[in-house]
Amino acid sequence: MSAKKIGVIGSGLIGRSFAMLFASAGYKVVIFDIEPAQTRAAKEDIREQLASLEKNGLLKGSLSRQQQFDNISTTENLEECVKNAFFIQECVPERLDIKRKVWAQVDKLVGDDVILSSSTSALLPSAISEGLTHKNRFIISHPTNPPFYCPAIEVVPAGWTDPDVIEKTFTVLKESGLVPVLIKKEVPGFVLNRIQYAIIGECYRLIKDGVVSPEDCDTIMSQGLGLRYAFMGPWETGYLNAEGMLSYGERYADMILDIQKSFGPPERIEGPTLQAIHASMERLAGPVQDIQKRRQWRDKRLIALAKLKRDL
Ligand code: NAD
Repeated sequence: MSAKKIGVIGSGLIGRSFAMLFASAGYKVVIFDIEPAQTRAAKEDIREQLASLEKNGLLKGSLSRQQQFDNISTTENLEECVKNAFFIQECVPERLDIKRKVWAQVDKLVGDDVILSSSTSALLPSAISEGLTHKNRFIISHPTNPPFYCPAIEVVPAGWTDPDVIEKTFTVLKESGLVPVLIKKEVPGFVLNRIQYAIIGECYRLIKDGVVSPEDCDTIMSQGLGLRYAFMGPWETGYLNAEGMLSYGERYADMILDIQKSFGPPERIEGPTLQAIHASMERLAGPVQDIQKRRQWRDKRLIALAKLKRDL
């Protein structure tokens, strides 16, 4: 079990999750946040989250809850956070100016071998790191939220990222119970959000064109496609739906192409269609003021699914 140090910058939703995941692998994690009150709240929240994970039998790694908790400390000083760390995970808000500012500060404080990893959901690695002396050590590790129950994580190097950074990042993420996937070229939205936005785009059009109601559209995902997708992707689905991929192409390629040609150009989600979707979701998921209740409902189901996938 390693006792190497990881620095986590930003102690919001994602910073807390990363801290717990790294601590579960035995790393010593030091969290820094520009708001000291946030780091204090983070430590308390982590204590509660670890207790809930233990209760549900979902603690990762082999350490006890207390050992994992003790692996995490906080600081009000950025230098203390990154000093002697071999891996730094930045989790500050999704703004290029903030990310660049934070990384410019870190750049001056670290040696040549440190791995500089960002949680960004959409900013390109080259855009964040272009001005850094250590840009060859920069990489993106974009988690799926909530990372404890959705372990896939997109790893996106820039063109100038050293190969050993990719390899070592994979090792750290795997040790922390995540499932890293290499994104070989930097493209907007990486892969997860490109797929997600393609789905949103088509669902929006189908509702706007009066083909299906928002509730029924969600039902098709939650009671149909989504059930398979919890266990396999579209390619394995296709493989199993025919006699392998070539047979799938023979049977369905023309139909797929014809239907894809009817999709139409991208549209901004807005106006009366968006209002109608909102009203439907209020009926389905409850009013916005009670949204926390429905989030807990979702998390309970994600926990049950995580258990099922672990035990199968
Ligand atoms: P958040 O708003 O919950 O947390 C951001 C934290 O950064 C706050 O605690 C804030 O005080 C702190 N901060 C702001 N400026 C700082 C600075 N200069 N130095 C140090 N700390 C600073 O945000 P989040 O949801 O945790 O998102 C963090 C990153 O992770 C973003 O890039 C986001 O796109 C990405 N991400 C988010 C999700 C998600 O679903 N929330 C999923 C994947 C990736």
